[in-house]
Amino acid sequence: LRGEIIRSEKMKIVSDIAASVAHEVRNPLTSVRGFIQLMGKDDLTTSNRQYYQKICLEELDRAEHIISDYLTFAKPEPEKIEVIEMKNEIDYVANVLTSYANYQNVQIIIQIEQDELLILGDKNKLRQALINIGKNSIEAMPEGGNLTFTAHSINGHVVISVGDTGIGMTKEQMNRLGTPYYSTKDKGTGLGTMVSFSIIRKMQGKIEVKSELAKGTTYMITIARLNASK
Ligand code: ADP
Ligand code: MG
Repeated sequence: LRGEIIRSEKMKIVSDIAASVAHEVRNPLTSVRGFIQLMGKDDLTTSNRQYYQKICLEELDRAEHIISDYLTFAKPEPEKIEVIEMKNEIDYVANVLTSYANYQNVQIIIQIEQDELLILGDKNKLRQALINIGKNSIEAMPEGGNLTFTAHSINGHVVISVGDTGIGMTKEQMNRLGTPYYSTKDKGTGLGTMVSFSIIRKMQGKIEVKSELAKGTTYMITIARLNASK
């Protein structure tokens, strides 16, 4: 599957993040409510009570994961467009991911040969996009590995790559990547990639993904570079 490429334009994007997060969180809340009602019954067996409690906790975790894929940084505020220096952002994102990476035996490597890689955009949204991608990379390396961030300038654009040495994806996984609710994980939301793609797309950027089974996956994000000379 070498060289397989997906472009964000092909993806079905849910554009209104605020509206869809409200919708998504409502489902687990509704089921937690139902189970708490059941737990109020007098003739409840211990095993049923434990079962209901387990489901409630799982559903609350699910709500928490949905919120964190959507809204850890990218709050549904009006966009705040500012000058972003890519090295700062990558350092920031790597910091946020460090404890998760350590926990999974993943080493984070940053390769940026150039200062002053500037773009325009909403800093919090870009952080959300990179963190969702980085989290997937870490989750793709259950036995540990390297998570590499690079940034450089090509033809008036800044190209940011996020690469892992993980399990990679099949062609069919690649085709579904970025579509809502597509997840191969036990507790996945299937929303992280969609949110990232939609953020990059709003920045007029492009995302390409290359993946090879058992070798790893690299996301490449291309965004117009802002002229540094002022
Ligand atoms: P989630 O992480 O909750 O499953 P995402 O939208 O973040 O949802 O990712 C969707 C799916 O895409 C994942 O379940 C996984 O199968 C696949 N995927 C995304 N990134 C990678 C990666 N770096 N390596 C392998 N598979 C990936
Ligand atoms: Mg994810």
